[in-house]
Amino acid sequence: MTNRTALITGASRGIGRACALALSEAGARVALAARNIEALNQLAEEIRARGREAHAVALDLANSDSIKEAAASAAKQFGHIDILVNNAGVTKDGLSMRMKKDDWESVLTTNLTGAFLMTQQVMPSMMRERWGRIINISSITGETGNAGQSNYVASKAGLIGLTKSLAQELGSRGITVNAIAPGFIETDMTQGLSQELKDKLLGAIPLKRFGKAEDVAAAVRFLASEEAAYITGATLDVNGGLAMR
Ligand code: NAP
Repeated sequence: MTNRTALITGASRGIGRACALALSEAGARVALAARNIEALNQLAEEIRARGREAHAVALDLANSDSIKEAAASAAKQFGHIDILVNNAGVTKDGLSMRMKKDDWESVLTTNLTGAFLMTQQVMPSMMRERWGRIINISSITGETGNAGQSNYVASKAGLIGLTKSLAQELGSRGITVNAIAPGFIETDMTQGLSQELKDKLLGAIPLKRFGKAEDVAAAVRFLASEEAAYITGATLDVNGGLAMR
């Protein structure tokens, strides 16, 4: 991946951070984007200490100007972006019956509209270069549904549909677009779940462990590589076998 540049949203912690480390280890120069600029600066330092290039970029996906500015900052630093990982995501759970419109909209805005708008920013230069990798971090719940998460699930199912449409639009330009559907991964996002739910989930996972951020990052690294050139429009499950399609 030497000479490739990657922009990773939600790189301040969890899966996004692991993706940034994995891509940089594979040789890519990485632009790290999220709201928490201190965490990004720290990660950028860590990556530079390993002799790689990294650039921290403030990004709020709920704000379209911020998306444009972040993409411009990354492009200014690195020339253009070859690999986009739309990883950032939020939850605001609740049963549909009582879900506030704001909670519906804010999750859709960050998880789905934000990913779409960021993709629009990097698309023109990928088309010019006739090479690109767009990887959308969806979720197992985007395929199976999940009670109490209709907003989140709609955003994640939306990302799978977006992936397929973009794959069809951009294939002729040498750009692949794929989604990853992680199962239960140990990060801040899942640490608040009840022990009872965790025990139940663990019992249902054939590989008998929860996933690590690095498990997802390894799949991202593969889909971003030259070796994955003939894979597009796909959704890769990284879930320990929790759901098999
Ligand atoms: P996490 O630890 O909660 O991290 C979420 C990341 O998204 C953070 O870096 C956060 O950074 C960023 N983010 C949130 N809102 C943002 C905004 N408005 N603008 C820019 N960045 C924003 O979650 P995670 O578990 O690593 O999840 C990463 C992705 O994987 C998400 O899309 C999630 O839905 C998906 N996923 C996770 C699991 C799991 O089990 N953990 C399973 C399936 C799918 P700041 O707070 O610094 O902005």
